Amino acid sequence: MNTALIDSFGREINYARLSVTDRCDFRCVYCMAEKMTFLPKKDVLSLEELYQTAVALIASGITKIRLTGGEPLIRNDIMWLIKKISQLKGLEELTLTTNGSQLVKYAEQLRACGIKRINISIDTLDAEKFQSITRTGKLQPVLDGIDAAIDAGFESIKLNSVILKNRNDDEIISLIKFAKKRSIDIAFIEEMPLGDIIEHDRLLAFCSSEEIRQIIEQEFSLTPSDKKTNGPARYFSLANSYSKIGFISPHSHNFCGDCNRIRITVEGQLLLCLGNEHAVDLRALLRQQHYDPSQLIQAIQNSMKIKPERHYFNLAEQPQIVRFMNATGG
Ligand code: SAM
Ligand code: SF4
Repeated sequence: MNTALIDSFGREINYARLSVTDRCDFRCVYCMAEKMTFLPKKDVLSLEELYQTAVALIASGITKIRLTGGEPLIRNDIMWLIKKISQLKGLEELTLTTNGSQLVKYAEQLRACGIKRINISIDTLDAEKFQSITRTGKLQPVLDGIDAAIDAGFESIKLNSVILKNRNDDEIISLIKFAKKRSIDIAFIEEMPLGDIIEHDRLLAFCSSEEIRQIIEQEFSLTPSDKKTNGPARYFSLANSYSKIGFISPHSHNFCGDCNRIRITVEGQLLLCLGNEHAVDLRALLRQQHYDPSQLIQAIQNSMKIKPERHYFNLAEQPQIVRFMNATGG
C-alpha cells in the first residue's frame, strides 16, 4: 500500500537516491581522496538487499528512485537490479546518475528498462584537464557514452558539472555550447564539503552559482524556467535553444525548504539529509535472521521524525561530514 511520507516540517518525501556501490573507476578530486579505502564486501548491500530496499521504499510512499554511487554502472550484474526495480508497481520514475564511462555498453539496455531520464557528469571537455580532475578517467569514452545516450533516445539527458575556480571555470561556456549543440540540459554544481580532501582548498576553489551565471551571461541570455525535476536544481532557459541551464547551489541558495529527498547508502544507512549525520540502519533489519519487510517499511516511515530542517555548510571549517560523496550516494 503506497502512502505518503511526510516529515515533521510538513515536507512530502517521495524521492530516494539509492547508492548501489561506493566504488568507482574515477577518483574525482572533489569527491574522493587519491587513495581510497572502499567498503569491505560484507558491509555492502547485496543486489537482492538493494532490491528489497527499493520494494520497502515504494511501499513507504517513495515514487521516484535515482540510482547512484560511486559509479552505478561498474557494479557487477547491475542490469539485473535495474530491470527488477523498473518493474515495481508504484514506482513512477527510475533514473540514474553516471560518470558516463560505461554508457556505450549500457545506454540501450537502460533505455529498454524504461529509464527515461539520465544524468551524466562531465566537468571539462579538455582531455588533460579531464584526467587531472578525475585522476583515473579518460575523456573520450565519456564523450562516446554521451553520444550513445543520445542515440538510445532518452527523453531527457542532463550533464552535471562541478565548477572549481581556476580549474574548469574557463570551460563553462564551452560546456554550454556542447550541451546546446546536442539539445541536452546542463547543471552547474557548487562543490560541497563532504569528506576531508587535501588535493585542493575547497574555500579557494569555491565558485558560486552567481559567479557562474555572470560568466554565462557575458555570452548567453538566461531567463528563469519553470522546469522542475525531483532534484534541487533551479533552471533557466537559454535563448534559441532547447537546452536548459541548471544551478545546484547548496551554499548560495539553500534548497532545504522544499526538500523531497532521502538517501540510502550502499551500507544500508538511510540518510535523512546530505549535510547532516541523521541516519537509520536499514541493513540491520534486512539481515535479521527472519527478515520482516514490514519492519523495514516501519523504519522508513519512522525516520521522517528525525529528518532535519536544513543543512549548514561552512567551507572555512573542517568538514563536519566525514563521509565522502561516493559513500554518501550523490
Ligand atoms: N559516479 C556518478 C557520477 O559521477 O555522476 C554518480 C555518483 S557522483 C557522487 C554524483 C554527483 O555528485 C556527480 O555529479 C558529482 O559531480 C557530484 N559530486 C561528487 N562530489 C561532490 C562534491 N564534493 N560537491 C558537489 N558535488 C559533488
Ligand atoms: Fe566517481 Fe562520480 Fe565520485 Fe567522480 S563524482 S569519483 S565519477 S563517484
